Amino acid sequence: MWETRRIKFCRACGAEARYAIPADDNRERATCTVCSTIHYENPLNVVGTLPVWEDRVLLCKRAIEPRYGLWTLPAGFMELGETTEQGAMRETLEEAGARVELQGLYTLLNVVRIGQVHIFYRARLLDLDLDPGTESLEARLFTEAEIPWDELAFRTVRETLKHYFADRREGRFGLHVGDIG
Ligand SMILES: [Zn+2]
Repeated sequence: MWETRRIKFCRACGAEARYAIPADDNRERATCTVCSTIHYENPLNVVGTLPVWEDRVLLCKRAIEPRYGLWTLPAGFMELGETTEQGAMRETLEEAGARVELQGLYTLLNVVRIGQVHIFYRARLLDLDLDPGTESLEARLFTEAEIPWDELAFRTVRETLKHYFADRREGRFGLHVGDIG
């Protein structure tokens, strides 16, 4: 079962919402007990980049929960009004102060349990003028040998980095689609 967001109150009128299967539907939806508004919940997209400079990749040390103090690729929730590419570049700028050129979609990972889809692009750093924002304690480059595998914040980050170093050894980068349990 996905244990994601649970809606307790109606977003339209503020009254109590209860989960029930609406007529002509087959899933429980949060339904307002007063105005009957049905609140549909769908997965969220997390977009980010795998920024590379020569043989090193950029990671950010998280200054926010969850996973405070652990390392991540720059990534975050996609905003309305932007494309996945724009969102990935915005998050990279916000979390690392890094300007990148995208080099193609790299991983698409379903995280069904928490109702998220994580999308990472390979990216080339345009310069080393890093400036971590308020969401990061630090942003720095790591060689493969330096990657803090035991201090990574998310499994999708680990998967993306594993694919990257394996692909780099083979000299070709394909799209990797997978599911994280
Ligand atoms: Zn209502």
